[in-house]
Amino acid sequence: DITTTDLVAMFDAIGAMIEANKGHLCELDGVIGDADHGVTMSIGFTAVGLALADLDTATADPTAVFNTAAKSFLNAVGASSGPLYATAFMRAGAAVKGKPVLDRDAMVDAVAALAKGIQDRGKATRGEKTMVDAWLPGAEAAEAARAEGQPLAACLDAAAKAATEGAESTKAMLASKGRASRLGERSLGHMDPGAASAALMLKVMADHFA
Ligand code: ADP
Ligand code: MG
Ligand code: MG
Repeated sequence: DITTTDLVAMFDAIGAMIEANKGHLCELDGVIGDADHGVTMSIGFTAVGLALADLDTATADPTAVFNTAAKSFLNAVGASSGPLYATAFMRAGAAVKGKPVLDRDAMVDAVAALAKGIQDRGKATRGEKTMVDAWLPGAEAAEAARAEGQPLAACLDAAAKAATEGAESTKAMLASKGRASRLGERSLGHMDPGAASAALMLKVMADHFA
């Protein structure tokens, strides 16, 4: 089962991945947005890492980890991804409330709640060229793998693959939410940066619990 310490380590691994992909994510955002997505995610996960380092893992439960991540991300990030991920992490925390450790079902529930939180907060549906196009197929793939009786590692692996395909599919989409919506047809052919970072996050989660 996943402990509080495991979850904190997962957030640290996501932060390290964001640092490694900061330039790439800014480049993607530079084409259809304002070129800061790598920086905003880096600021957010740096704040999350610092806040989680202060958390007493002996007494904090998984919900406290997600709630701490939500608050620190929201306070640190002014960009549109700030409230989106803050809501996502709050929802993930609520989905596992009362559980001292997370089993497969709880972790898949957390991923599904996270994806739903982003959708509820940003009001984007699938096909609008946003991070929803990675998170939603990712969460659905995790739930489908769980329904087939697959272990957590396989559920997260399926989620990462579906999210990667989802991010790839945003290249063919016209943006109708967020900054890129101002570009109209000029957003065609380019991957959405938020979908790209979402797929990378699920990949880190899959690798972390492999
Ligand atoms: P900003 O656009 O404020 O500079 P970021 O660059 O950090 O913020 O994030 C941009 C990403 O946010 C986009 O690539 C897209 O995936 C996501 N996004 C923007 N608006 C929405 C929305 N309403 N719903 C879901 N995702 C959104
Ligand atoms: Mg941006
Ligand atoms: Mg910005």
